[in-house]
Amino acid sequence: MNQEIHFRDALLLPIWKKVQEGERLSHEDGRTLFRTNDVLSLGKMAHFVQKNRSGDAVYFVLNQKIEPTNVCVLSCKFCNFAVKQGDAGAYEMTIAEMLAKLTPDIHEVHMTGGLHPDWPWEYYLEMMRKIHMNFPNLDIKAFTAVEIDFFHRKFKLSIKEVLHELKEAGMRTMPGGGAEVFSERVRKELFPQKIGAGPWLDIHRAAHELGIPSNATILYGHIETIDERLDHLIKLRGLQDETGGFLSFIPLAFQPGDTGIKPREQFTSAIDDLKMIAVSRLMLDNFPHIKAYWVMLTEEVASVALNFGADDMDGTVGGERIAHDAGAISPSSMAKDQLIKIIRDAGKIPVERDIYYNPINLYTKNVVGKIPYLNSVPFYENIERRQFKILPVTPRRMGVLSASGMLDAGLFSLVNYLQQQERLEMLEYCIATRDQVKSVLLFSNHGWHDLEGKTIGIIDDTATSVMLLKILLQKRYGVRTVFKRMNSGVNDYSEFDAVLLIGDEALRSRKNGLAGFEIVYDLATEWYQWKKLPFVFAVWAVQSTVPQDRKNELQDILQQSLRRAEENVTAVGTSHAKRIGLSADETVEYLEGFNYRIGKRERLSIERFQELLLELERIEQL
Ligand code: SF4
Repeated sequence: MNQEIHFRDALLLPIWKKVQEGERLSHEDGRTLFRTNDVLSLGKMAHFVQKNRSGDAVYFVLNQKIEPTNVCVLSCKFCNFAVKQGDAGAYEMTIAEMLAKLTPDIHEVHMTGGLHPDWPWEYYLEMMRKIHMNFPNLDIKAFTAVEIDFFHRKFKLSIKEVLHELKEAGMRTMPGGGAEVFSERVRKELFPQKIGAGPWLDIHRAAHELGIPSNATILYGHIETIDERLDHLIKLRGLQDETGGFLSFIPLAFQPGDTGIKPREQFTSAIDDLKMIAVSRLMLDNFPHIKAYWVMLTEEVASVALNFGADDMDGTVGGERIAHDAGAISPSSMAKDQLIKIIRDAGKIPVERDIYYNPINLYTKNVVGKIPYLNSVPFYENIERRQFKILPVTPRRMGVLSASGMLDAGLFSLVNYLQQQERLEMLEYCIATRDQVKSVLLFSNHGWHDLEGKTIGIIDDTATSVMLLKILLQKRYGVRTVFKRMNSGVNDYSEFDAVLLIGDEALRSRKNGLAGFEIVYDLATEWYQWKKLPFVFAVWAVQSTVPQDRKNELQDILQQSLRRAEENVTAVGTSHAKRIGLSADETVEYLEGFNYRIGKRERLSIERFQELLLELERIEQL
């Protein structure tokens, strides 16, 4: 995607070059970004990164906040929420009261609160269990690192034991609060009893290792310096390099309220808020999402932030108290329609999501799905500059959205296309391999024949690769196994005998190795050795109801994109490849291993695969 920016601040030019080439920004670059007065160019650079990562999508979730108690053993200087037991306004919710706040339409409950002096450990676990039992489709995001550390010390459990027991009880992810800003100076001054950077990062690392993804925040706009903000971002970026377990980053604007740290009227300016969002997007090159938390930013600033690097609006946020007790002027919840309108007005696709950022509903038309893996990049370089709206989405989700008529076109997983043949028209393009794919891999501890009866973890992103694996196991090797779904993102693989990974995650693990697994099988190689045919993983298709002129337009764009990619193969996907640690040569070699046009052999391979799928279904029905 090319974009011209007319810079007023020449100091931004070398940074822009780095951004376009996918190079990591330094602390010094961050300083230049914070200091610039060329705010629009800063926003455009961040928007460039945002579009590369998220296309035109802006996510929101139907969520409810529950703050179980405001009674807290600590007294942080900036906190207007906490009180002591017996104080006026102190409250302690029963589990029945918590359940009464939830409804089946909500997808996420966000639970944080005071550190209660008397509640027993069992009460926290019971909260998780009861919510999970009564609302099984609701994902629980609960407890900041400060709360986890409090449980660890109070109940004499290790951090991992605390997290593991909460996970078993139903907790899915962790919110990002409690870090405030990673500066010992600020911590000593404002919240000396709270944990510092080291323990906060250790707790999130432990969560990621246990397969609990988390989020991260920064509280800015109080006494912190620009350098302290940048240190904070760089520390988070380092942990994300290690674990890949952060889902989003949320800059939280400090609300002065009656804290006495700053006069009540000295809230952050809109320029400072937008700069914070944009710099976060540019510095945190390995974070999937940056959130414009409208509760603290106000609706107006959050809406501008959607063109300054933010791709998430949080959600409807029923029941928020912490920010409002500190003086936030936004309403305490927002209707879904209002969120959708704000996102649409910013020229984006409103995407209702679940806790893992899987799209559930789209609230706009003319959307083209984009597989967010390196191997599909050659198709999209040209689309980005046309009128189509682009939604990056995993192959499996693309199938689900298409089945409910929410996508006009996309690069569909072959299985999804075959399931929806009646409503989809296949175009001339595909993702097929020659003899190896390098990004659909089974990491195993056993040879094929020894996998009998074993448990294989499969990533929730893929339909075709899972069916290909099943066919290879059952039809080629005569082996039956148990498949268990995993979420994309962080996972604890220790319970599996083998795991199937696809896309960028597979490429990364192929290069760096996957701890605990010795053998790596490339499924395309297996297919090729067996059938002497390339394997077709995905095909371009468009809904039959789309007008013919738009179908033609799409076909033209794809053709042009591929031609440009083939003419300039060394420049394709370089910034994307850098994100997963591939060199320029490795990227060229990887992309050259694909065939992007459907020919005779690809059609034959699709037929063979379809026959085997039918046989497999017949066997499974017996
Ligand atoms: S910020 Fe959190 S830990 Fe500190 S006083 Fe408030 S509720 Fe307690």
